[in-house]
Amino acid sequence: MDPFSSERRDMVETQLRRRGIRDERVLAAMEKVPRHLFVPEDLQHRAYWDCPLPIGHGQTISQPYVVALTCELLELSSTDSVLDIGTGSGYAAAILAELAAHIISIERLPELVQLARDNLAAAGCNNVEVQCADGTLGCPDEAPFDAIAVAAAAPDVPVSLKAQLKDGGRLVLPVGPSRHLQDLVRVRRTSKGDFRTDNLGGVAYVPLVGAEGWAD
Ligand code: SAH
Repeated sequence: MDPFSSERRDMVETQLRRRGIRDERVLAAMEKVPRHLFVPEDLQHRAYWDCPLPIGHGQTISQPYVVALTCELLELSSTDSVLDIGTGSGYAAAILAELAAHIISIERLPELVQLARDNLAAAGCNNVEVQCADGTLGCPDEAPFDAIAVAAAAPDVPVSLKAQLKDGGRLVLPVGPSRHLQDLVRVRRTSKGDFRTDNLGGVAYVPLVGAEGWAD
């Protein structure tokens, strides 16, 4: 038990379950991981609010619902290996770590890499490896992955990320023609090696900056 456990239960009930998140493993992970350890200390009282929060360097920790929706869409099982792009605070990586076997998480800003490593250690999470790199290129050394989650918006689906999915693998990311207009998209690599795309509707993310993303 911690001082925020009842707020966390309310978050799961009102922001997630009531809005249609059904995957019980996702709901359990969101109830377990202490989100307040992933936000700046002076914002801890807002950690379980229904919104993104600033984490410094112009970046945000995503709204809880968006993290849960992404994880549900990834259809994770406990043996999966997952690539998480846009580590930020490390919160989404910590949720993914409850749902899969091993997570590689990539962040481009060195200050946030350190912050995320500290946050993950404080939360007792030990199956996430945080790397500092351009995540638009994925992680060729560790590919292929069962699932890839991207927490920043790209102009198009990065070709490198599609190429790093296993057959049957899932990629969830926001994609849009401008830095402010995006749809959440799931790309599934079929057993025949081609791709099926579902559009899940409008979202607002910070930009994915890199070789297969937006210019800096
Ligand atoms: N999943 C995070 C959300 C962070 S916001 C959390 O739970 O807190 C998105 C993050 O993507 C930012 O930290 C930003 O610096 C990072 N980012 C943007 N472009 C990137 C790229 N090409 N590779 C890796 N990280 C990137």
